[in-house]
Amino acid sequence: KMRREKTVETPYEVSSSTRSESEQYENIDYFMKKRLSVWCPVPGGLWKSGKIQSISGEEASIKLSDGTVIEASTEELLPANPASFEGIYDLTRLSYLNEPSVLHNLECRFCGDMVYSKAGPLLIAINPFKDVQLYGDDVITAYRQKLTNEPHVYATADNAYNQMMRDGENQSIIISGESGAGKTETANLAVEYLVALCDEQSSLKDKILKGSHILEAFGNAKTSTNDNSSRFLRLVKRAKGERSYHIFYQLCAGAPSSLKDRLNLKMANQYKYLNQSECLEIRSVDDASKFQMLMEALDIIQISKDTQGHIFELLAAVLWLGNISFNKVDTESCVEVAPDEALTTAARMVGCSTQELISVLSAPEDGTSEKLTLQEAIDIRDGLAKVIYASLFDWLVELINKSLEVDKQEAERSISILDVCGFESFQKNSFEQICINYGSERLHQHFARHLLKLEQEAYEFDGLDWIKVDYEDNHECLNLFEKKSLGLFSLLDEESCLPTGTDSTFLNKLKQHLNGNPCFKEDRNGFFKIRHFTGEVLYDSNGFLDKNRDTTHANLSQLLSSICLLSRFAPNVLNQSQAPTSFSSELHALESQKHLIGSKYKDQLFKLMQQLEHTNPHFILCIRPNSEQLPSIYSKELVLHQLRYSGVLEVVTIARVSYPTQMAYEEFANRYAFLLSEKNVLQDPLDISVAVLQHCNVLPEMYQVGYKKLYMRAGLIDMLEDMKKQVP
Ligand code: ADP
Ligand code: MG
Repeated sequence: KMRREKTVETPYEVSSSTRSESEQYENIDYFMKKRLSVWCPVPGGLWKSGKIQSISGEEASIKLSDGTVIEASTEELLPANPASFEGIYDLTRLSYLNEPSVLHNLECRFCGDMVYSKAGPLLIAINPFKDVQLYGDDVITAYRQKLTNEPHVYATADNAYNQMMRDGENQSIIISGESGAGKTETANLAVEYLVALCDEQSSLKDKILKGSHILEAFGNAKTSTNDNSSRFLRLVKRAKGERSYHIFYQLCAGAPSSLKDRLNLKMANQYKYLNQSECLEIRSVDDASKFQMLMEALDIIQISKDTQGHIFELLAAVLWLGNISFNKVDTESCVEVAPDEALTTAARMVGCSTQELISVLSAPEDGTSEKLTLQEAIDIRDGLAKVIYASLFDWLVELINKSLEVDKQEAERSISILDVCGFESFQKNSFEQICINYGSERLHQHFARHLLKLEQEAYEFDGLDWIKVDYEDNHECLNLFEKKSLGLFSLLDEESCLPTGTDSTFLNKLKQHLNGNPCFKEDRNGFFKIRHFTGEVLYDSNGFLDKNRDTTHANLSQLLSSICLLSRFAPNVLNQSQAPTSFSSELHALESQKHLIGSKYKDQLFKLMQQLEHTNPHFILCIRPNSEQLPSIYSKELVLHQLRYSGVLEVVTIARVSYPTQMAYEEFANRYAFLLSEKNVLQDPLDISVAVLQHCNVLPEMYQVGYKKLYMRAGLIDMLEDMKKQVP
């Protein structure tokens, strides 16, 4: 609000003290007299800019830029920034910091294809959904030689690298944002920059890039919000308009005819796992040429032709498994495997006899000789397909890692780049979304801790005069998931282990134990709501228990003992000492893992966060400018929502008044005491430090004196260094 807004006379004004009533009106009068622009709220929760024509009491009449005149309460007006500030690259440099100004500034930049901006320490990247001329060798060189100050993911990567070299500390680049906001592309660009720093001869460079290319083909798929979304669990079922993993379509479209013959490969539309979601192609993506690129990538990673053949056989096995059908036995409700082409080909691809595959697909979970119902048979079939694909993926990751290791020199320090599944809220949200969204909550907590909490705490702790910037913290929501024995994951585990547990008994437990949590809400039958940091999401409890139990894995041991599945896929990729585990050992490893997916996911996330805590973080926030994945469309509502829940305004507020340089008095005194005149008699480092600052005529608002350290605003240390150079 205008009255709370301060005009920053110096860029370093610290206090955010409330202006008095009279000052406020002066301020507004000033805006009117000088014909300065203000932001005026309009219905729908946004603002338009205009000029104040007249004020009477609490009401002002504003002429908008399109000529219309509207009335607004003076309370609701916010100061706009002068035109000369338009499109400024760091939001901390805006004279007036408020939501419409930030939103407008980012829009100006976005329209000029400047998709990167800074919010103090945070890099904001708005997805352009088109080729912007911001990448490639020349641009990389410009950042390496520091020829430009424009914010860029390259600059962030450069910074991380330099800090790692300078301080010997591990770094992390943490990329957050909703699904489709551009996280994976951003991560790839960061990798591109870092590998450009590699020695030209290094084959590591190519391998890293091709490795991520392979993982993308096997791990990404088209969803409704992103044509190339990083995914898990989506082999056998998904919504209309979505695709399974890219690799299947690429294989069907691009396999050379000899490979097609060997795999008995059909067109993608012939496979049930692919044709059920009525989406086989992605606009402007050529799957066949993608397959050529994939084969080249496999060569560069030095995966032998033999192993490549096995990988393709496993993919074909998955596709053919999906086509296996079941026939009713007489009049009973039981079924048998239909002895057709799908069965024989799947068996051949897996490397077992038709009879062996039939016995796996007909074996009930409890080991009895009962015949299966149709649904049971389908579950076993789909489970087998999932397990094969999951093991294949893990195996590939390992093959790639081993291949990279050959080139790895003594690695003492590292830069980790984190690209996770982004927040999702669809019409129908299930167990997958709850895992993804819980992950986003954890990541947001890390973000807020580093950008909003720790710095402020350090100031308070060291006794600084600091007006706390409030922000929403999400501990209640995390608590909802993580609370020991009574959190959502514990309750889910408990219910999943009970033979009598069902989705509805689980939901009842949630209601019973979580009703006190402000982030939990009951909903219509079978549904519940969670208030995430991004807003409320409606979850359908249907299927939670099955997905959490992932019974397919539990059945595997039986399955594996029935057929010596895939034993022929022995490691013959690299020499023996380097040999990664074989496909079949990946399969065994998967089978012996803890079976409850939810808590496994939670544990993995915890480990990840722990690793990140030991690094110096660099944050990138990716923003989705519209929901249609279209270029040049900037939906103010959508962007504002993302800026709000990420706490961008708070980050800028803190950054504007923060003290980026902090130094212990001893060090400061050591460095700069000689700037004082000869007859300096002071002993105490604090006294010396203050004397230096006074001697150099440093304005008091440029620093603060803490108990242990001196806190300096941006620019001060550079000024002192300059003075140091001038002393002979
Ligand atoms: P996320 O990983 O956040 O879900 P992606 O990184 O997969 O999102 O990006 C989604 C799509 O947006 C990409 O497939 C690409 O078409 C487009 N995109 C993202 N970042 C950029 C960029 N910097 N330049 C051009 N297009 C981009
Ligand atoms: Mg992604």
